[in-house]
Amino acid sequence: MTVQPHEVIAAVLRDVKAVVFDTDGVITDFARVHAAAWKTAFDALLAEHPPEDPGQRRPLSIRDDYLRYVDGKSRFAGAYAFLASRGLDPTDATVRAVAEHKERLFTERLREHGIDAYPGAVRLVRALRRAGMPRAAASASRHAHELLTRAEVLDLFDVLVDGGEAARLGLAGKPQPDLFLEAARGLGVPTARCAVVEDALAGVGAGRRGGFALVVGVNRAHDPDSEARLLEHAADIVVHDLAELLQEGVRR
Ligand SMILES: [Mg+2]
Repeated sequence: MTVQPHEVIAAVLRDVKAVVFDTDGVITDFARVHAAAWKTAFDALLAEHPPEDPGQRRPLSIRDDYLRYVDGKSRFAGAYAFLASRGLDPTDATVRAVAEHKERLFTERLREHGIDAYPGAVRLVRALRRAGMPRAAASASRHAHELLTRAEVLDLFDVLVDGGEAARLGLAGKPQPDLFLEAARGLGVPTARCAVVEDALAGVGAGRRGGFALVVGVNRAHDPDSEARLLEHAADIVVHDLAELLQEGVRR
């Protein structure tokens, strides 16, 4: 009989009974495409309707504006928060128009490019499955089902709560914890025994508000500022790659 090295779950996850994963930026690497589509849509709007204060007319910065105001939130909440941050008082029609522009750009890019899951995320989710630990994916995006399917990882999750489901159930977006609470409910595990894995500041805050046992922040930007912000928003730990939540063991 050959002895094969295999991966076991790191100690930090051993006290929880289930894990809820955010999708974009945690499982699939489409967060960048969302960000780029938002940037194009917001920059077009700022050029067309420049704020009165010239200091507020600069294009959207993914690092400073997107991560702070938009990432992880529902489309309308994110669009409103960013435009308000530039001193604009957007009408519902403006918010809807910029969100629809972003949606068109996103759908075009979705069609043009393939979608990959992060290898470290796939390794972790598979290891959790082997260990019999229930797994959910939760996302404010109505595209989450399609993205997970195209990345060929949908079947690794027991439960998916996506933007369509959230709308149907009337769930509030992040930073409210509703999506994660619904995912934990679907897994049948109390939040106090569940971990949340999330890359957005709003999502880390949602995990904390929801009373989850462990909130793991994912710092895909690999920079110390992002790490500090995730910890400020009450992540318990921050990793760059989900494979850090594994350690090598020996299959017996
Ligand atoms: Mg995310």
